[in-house]
Amino acid sequence: MHVAVLGAGYAGVALTRKLESRLPSDVDITLVNDSADHVLVHETHRAIRRPAVADAISVPIADLLDRAELVVDRVVDVDADAGRAELGSGDTVEWDYGALCLGSETAYYDIEGLRDHSTPLKSLDDAATVRADFLDVVAHGGRVVVGGAGLSGVQVAGELAALAREEGADVPEDVEVVVVEMLDDVAPNFPANFRRAVREQLTERGVDVETGTTVEAVFDDRLVTDDGDLRYDQLIWTGGIAGDDAVDGDRPVVRADLRLTDRTFALGDAARAVDADGEPVPASASAAIREAKTVAENVARLVDHERSADPDDFEPRLARYRFEVPGWLVSVGDGAVAQLGPTVLTGAAAKASKASVGAGYLTSVGAVDRALKLAEEELL
Ligand SMILES: Cc1cc2nc3c(=O)[nH]c(=O)nc-3n(C[C@H](O)[C@H](O)[C@H](O)COP(=O)(O)OP(=O)(O)OC[C@H]3O[C@@H](n4cnc5c(N)ncnc54)[C@H](O)[C@@H]3O)c2cc1C
Repeated sequence: MHVAVLGAGYAGVALTRKLESRLPSDVDITLVNDSADHVLVHETHRAIRRPAVADAISVPIADLLDRAELVVDRVVDVDADAGRAELGSGDTVEWDYGALCLGSETAYYDIEGLRDHSTPLKSLDDAATVRADFLDVVAHGGRVVVGGAGLSGVQVAGELAALAREEGADVPEDVEVVVVEMLDDVAPNFPANFRRAVREQLTERGVDVETGTTVEAVFDDRLVTDDGDLRYDQLIWTGGIAGDDAVDGDRPVVRADLRLTDRTFALGDAARAVDADGEPVPASASAAIREAKTVAENVARLVDHERSADPDDFEPRLARYRFEVPGWLVSVGDGAVAQLGPTVLTGAAAKASKASVGAGYLTSVGAVDRALKLAEEELL
């Protein structure tokens, strides 16, 4: 029997590791990823200001696996019904049970000129490009626009304002950092007290927050919005996510058992999950890791059933995912906002909590040296 996991981000790595311990040892497990490294995407904004973070948040996938086979290749097409994926090399992977964990791409919503004139932030290469372009803006003075005020946009804007100051520029006197968001608030999918604190942290650092503003078109020097034109020297777009090209940009909806087809599950950013309470699950690292636990359990139940029972028996009842996280944490430059239950914290306590998240994750997967390096960088 063969189980395949496509994508080695938070969802794919957590799932593969759980399957390694949960499945009988004669079940083969394959993990496919387009690079040999597992990258902590939710820390990539840190690498804009602290390039050394890049090494700390890239972990060789082979170091994280026990018995699963790692295939470094790009998935170019997925047939979730048949249980088959085509790879860039021309090889094929087939599975009895499999999981789509390919994460997400940046969504451009067909806005004219947007893709051509903006930089996304989904990878360490993107972070390096954003940094180089931003240092150019800082050198000459100018305006940087960040499109989208979700978790990534807010954190990018915070890093840019802090980097400008470290380079000796005044924000907003020399360098303007503007966040443009279509909805009425920053971090729009989060509770009101969290949103308020995030907005305060941004404005305290000189970031101009323009909410309720829709980008309609982008030219090489200006955005056209429903509130008028906005000139820019650099544009970073973090305004939304779409599915991977291998699934035609789709993020399929899955119910709480996270099952997409008889053979295939979908989790993390790759899916739009509706949890056991009927609530949509936000695309987040925390949800991806927790969903992996449900999928590992469900794959194990199906494998056990297929091996032990009369094939005419009913399928086992599958576990259902309920979205529960202890809270939310974002960094805003050298500050942070932490929501723990109903309480929202800023200042040193929030910063310490935020610093412990990435390092705690790295420790949990056994990458202790990298955890220490990241903690050092975070607490600089
Ligand atoms: C700047 C930024 C800040 C963020 N901050 C937070 C935060 O503070 N808190 C939070 O909870 N979330 C945050 N997020 C969101 C979080 O990073 C994502 O929700 C999370 O990474 C989703 O995990 P995943 O495993 O589904 O996908 P990913 O972590 O993106 O992993 C997908 C994996 O699949 C691989 N892959 C993709 N396509 C292919 C292909 N075709 N073939 C082979 N391999 C492929 C990728 O290389 C990657 O290894 C942030 C995101 C960004 C960009």
